[in-house]
Amino acid sequence: MSEEAPSPLRRLWRNLRGRPGAVPLAPLDTAAVEDLAARLQAAGIRRLGRGLSLHAIDPGSCGGCELELRALRGVVYELERFGLRFVDSPRQAEVLLVTGPVTRALQAPLVAAWEATPDPKFVIAIGDCAIDGGVFKGSYAVAGGVDSTLHVDFVVRGCPPAPEEILEGLLLLLEAGAA
Ligand code: SF4
Repeated sequence: MSEEAPSPLRRLWRNLRGRPGAVPLAPLDTAAVEDLAARLQAAGIRRLGRGLSLHAIDPGSCGGCELELRALRGVVYELERFGLRFVDSPRQAEVLLVTGPVTRALQAPLVAAWEATPDPKFVIAIGDCAIDGGVFKGSYAVAGGVDSTLHVDFVVRGCPPAPEEILEGLLLLLEAGAA
C-alpha cells in the first residue's frame, strides 16, 4: 500500500523544523572591498576629475543583477562612503550600469537615458543577460544584449555577478584608460 501524501500543513511544519533552505553567506572581506572602492574613487578623480556617479538601468532583467547592484548601496558595502554616488537621473551620471537583456518595450527608454547622460559617459553591461541576452536570448520580446542598442564600454560576466565583481569591473574600466 502506498504511503499517504502529507497534508500541506504537515509538510509546512516539517519544512519549518527541517534544515534551512538558505545557504549562509560567506563572510565578507571588508578590507578587500574598502580597498577596491577607494581605488575606484581615486581612479574616478584621476580620469574624470571628480567622484563617479552611477545610474542603474534595467531594461528587462529577472531582478537578480539588480539586487547585486543594490547591495552596493546598502549598509554592507555602502559605496557612498567613498564618494561613489548612485544617482536617480542619467543627467547626473557618468556611468550607466545596465542589467538584463534589452526588451523591445524598453529599448527606446534605454536610448533616451543614454542620450540624456552627459559626455564623457560609459556603459557597463552587468551580467550575462546584458552581454548577449543570456537565458532570454531568442525571445520575441528581447532585442538582445545591451550592445544591440548602445555602444558598450565594458562587460561584467556572471549570473548574477557578485558586488565585488561589479566593483572590479568599474575599476578596470577606469584604469584601462577608457575614460
Ligand atoms: S544574468 Fe542572471 S541574474 Fe542577471 S538578469 Fe540574467 S538571469 Fe537574471
